[in-house]
Amino acid sequence: MDDTGNTAVVIVGGGTAGWMAAAALSRFFSDGRRTITLVESDAIGTVGVGEATIPPLRNFNGMLGIAENDFLRETCGTFKLGIEFVNWGRQGDRYFHPFGEYGQDLHGIAFHQLYLRERARDDCGPIADYSMSTAAAAADRFARPRPDAQSPLGEIRYAFQFDAGLYAAYLRRLAERQGTVRREGRVVHVHRDGESGDVVSVELEDGSRIAGDLFLDCSGFRGLLIEEELGTGYEDWSRWLPMDRALAMPSANTGSLNPYTRATAHGAGWQWRIPLQHRTGNGHVFCSSYMERDEAERILRQHVEGEPLADPRLLRFTTGMRKRAWVHNVVALGLSSGFIEPLESTAIHLVQNGIQRLFALFPDKRVDPLEREEYNRGMRELYEDVRDFVILHYKATQRDDTAFWRYVRDMEVPETLVRKMKLWQLHGRVFRENAELFALPSWVAVMLGQNVWPDRHDPIADTLDPDKVAGAMAQMRRSYRAAAERLPTQEAFLRQAGAWHAEDEIPRVQTGAPA
Ligand SMILES: Cc1cc2nc3c(=O)[nH]c(=O)nc-3n(C[C@H](O)[C@H](O)[C@H](O)COP(=O)(O)OP(=O)(O)OC[C@H]3O[C@@H](n4cnc5c(N)ncnc54)[C@H](O)[C@@H]3O)c2cc1C
Repeated sequence: MDDTGNTAVVIVGGGTAGWMAAAALSRFFSDGRRTITLVESDAIGTVGVGEATIPPLRNFNGMLGIAENDFLRETCGTFKLGIEFVNWGRQGDRYFHPFGEYGQDLHGIAFHQLYLRERARDDCGPIADYSMSTAAAAADRFARPRPDAQSPLGEIRYAFQFDAGLYAAYLRRLAERQGTVRREGRVVHVHRDGESGDVVSVELEDGSRIAGDLFLDCSGFRGLLIEEELGTGYEDWSRWLPMDRALAMPSANTGSLNPYTRATAHGAGWQWRIPLQHRTGNGHVFCSSYMERDEAERILRQHVEGEPLADPRLLRFTTGMRKRAWVHNVVALGLSSGFIEPLESTAIHLVQNGIQRLFALFPDKRVDPLEREEYNRGMRELYEDVRDFVILHYKATQRDDTAFWRYVRDMEVPETLVRKMKLWQLHGRVFRENAELFALPSWVAVMLGQNVWPDRHDPIADTLDPDKVAGAMAQMRRSYRAAAERLPTQEAFLRQAGAWHAEDEIPRVQTGAPA
């Protein structure tokens, strides 16, 4: 607080996390009682990846008053209906983790239970046939959900894929328009209050100091304030999530613009494919204990479909989370607070959630330890829930073709996940605890997609007339397919919506700073 009672918020770092925070804070705190300053260093650059998201980002955009078509145009963005997983359960397998529900529950009985029972009776196809988002993705088509009782199109759920560099630039323009002050420069020193230990200012190379009351550490993996200054400590999860490297490489688009991300498993990791308007993002996430960089690069190049637009860039990371995200008057957001790994595109959501949680617990004149601990408790819960869901993809494999897959198949997993898997195995039941991010359909998609069939279906499903259920299911299946076929392609939809970038302004390839 300064003498006038105003609060100064200082954001250290201008990657996706820093600019998301600046855009959100400056929208709500433009009352003149708070100042928002963001300091970043062009010389250091950003991580330059992070291009696939999950549906709650639409709420964040809504909170910021962002017009979706405008946002898609300026970030060369595309729609995402889910993730296609290739080679995960067994080599040659393919399944889709869609956003949105499977089918419709009947008389309060979960659709997947009716499906499990029907499947034991008759050939009712893969569960993917009973999802609107999956049907649209399979047809390479897209439209926003339309509330119409006659059509299942209202069941479409979607997120976005965008260029990480353009996204940060878009948010920067928004934040600056709303009053955020950007300072260019490298932070070289952190000053703290001798008594409380709180951070009071950060010092730049030119000797100038930026003072603040609340500091958001958005400095990336290094955790400039939360770790380098405050020594908070990091909880390493690599025994469950052993990926520690990624090679990222953009390529030219080929074929139609798929409205989904693809995750293809390889010998010691997996490869992402994210189609954007102007290029495709690719990357090979791998475990360096089981694969050398050269081999990872060879595999990446071999599987990239279009012409490479840059050389692969190596990123190193350790999966896990900071022991506490909020310490003293420093809140870590983004990679400084932890990183699970990008398989389910959750990192940007963790930033979003951290910002929304910070709003809910925004400190007044001074930070109250109880509120700070509530923030830390909630963030830990969210991180651990996401962690368990991502581990499931590795644990629930039947692959044994490499030492890596044998390791993840046989590894011990957290007790929380053991319980979930056992409950699933008995009767295909999933219980969503607290504010768990991934709901029932996500667990069903991965379990069944990776061939983990429960021993029995829920006996409650036997209470419905099987012929009526079969009839209703057949009707759902037909209507999803028919509705998908009537949709425009993703490119046609984007163009018609005015969400296609100007042809003469195709942005240069953004690849972030050299790693
Ligand atoms: C391989 C990989 C793939 C990913 N894929 C996805 C995905 O598909 N979906 C998703 O949601 N997330 C993904 N992520 C995560 C996502 O990239 C990040 O969560 C997101 O970009 C936020 O990063 P950040 O802003 O925390 O850090 P960074 O982008 O690293 O930004 C750090 C900022 O701090 C500044 N800085 C650092 N030190 C100083 C200093 N001394 N002085 C001044 N400024 C400084 C830098 O200049 C930079 O502006 C992925 C991450 C990786 C590694």
